[in-house]
Amino acid sequence: MTEDNDSGRGLRIQGFERPASAPRCDAVESNDRASAPIPRSALGPALNEHGYYVGRVEGNLYWVTDGTYQSAFLTTSDGVVLLDAPPTIGHNIQRAVDEIAAANGASNEVTHLIYSHHHADHAGASSLFGRNITRIGHEQTRNLLLRDDDPARPPPEETFEDRLALEIGGDRIELAWHGSNHSPDNIFIHLPDHDALMLVDVVNPGWAPVCQSNLTEDVPGFIEAPDTALTYPWKHFIGGHMGRLGTREDVATHRQYMADIADSSRKALDTVDPTRYFVTYGENTWTAVSGYLDAITATAAAPVIEKYTGVLAAADVFTASTTFHVMQSLRLDLGYGSQVHP
Ligand SMILES: [Zn+2]
Repeated sequence: MTEDNDSGRGLRIQGFERPASAPRCDAVESNDRASAPIPRSALGPALNEHGYYVGRVEGNLYWVTDGTYQSAFLTTSDGVVLLDAPPTIGHNIQRAVDEIAAANGASNEVTHLIYSHHHADHAGASSLFGRNITRIGHEQTRNLLLRDDDPARPPPEETFEDRLALEIGGDRIELAWHGSNHSPDNIFIHLPDHDALMLVDVVNPGWAPVCQSNLTEDVPGFIEAPDTALTYPWKHFIGGHMGRLGTREDVATHRQYMADIADSSRKALDTVDPTRYFVTYGENTWTAVSGYLDAITATAAAPVIEKYTGVLAAADVFTASTTFHVMQSLRLDLGYGSQVHP
């Protein structure tokens, strides 16, 4: 194994032949990161000199992005209600709040923070807003943050089990937990007066999910979440990722993409024959298994990559990784293809 510092692209293993559609996000990186051009529809507005964009979603609801992560906030008569605090946006969250508050003559003081879920990449700037704000989240978010004991993410003190209807400064915010999906504690944040739904780390509008279904813990819950999202009335979707807001069509496209991956994985599980891998590798069982799993993944991912290249940005980059993940869930969660020895 040699490290290739010239390419700046991480680890290369000499002599390793990587199939074109092998899963990315595993230990071995391809030395060729060339990927299909991204559709312009995947991109959002330009960032300012500080590296963020802030815009109105509807009424007094605003969203902030650094092009990769998203946060949102409401300016109310009781202060600012922040929805997530991604560390990559960091201090730009307060800059965005200041900019909007100054323009509207509203208070720029963040008084409430609602966590979508416990993950550090969406909550790691929480401590910037001090100890005295009201933190709200699912009871499992509290438990997980107590476990993680990260000073950057103080656990929420106000928690709920299934639903919590908030009214802050006259604005309604409806929180609901519909079971685990991306994480065990990921919630739906509905703003009925703003025609908006925030659901983080499920649908990345315009983009394929990042590796392994957005690094999801519960694949059946992740696959079901877009259906649940579409049962709510809303026009504006805040997905927590990338540079633009989403539409109902974005959620439907993502739902179809995941359904296509599951269908294609079932077909591949039905048709790819493991025999030759076990014949070739003999008693080296894990190498045979590895070859077989790579073959099913590549077979299942190929038609999905073809269908979604040019539709969802980076479909060519991450579809194989998500297909591997979904295919394992079909086997392990749903028992697909499981056979009892005669
Ligand atoms: Zn997450």
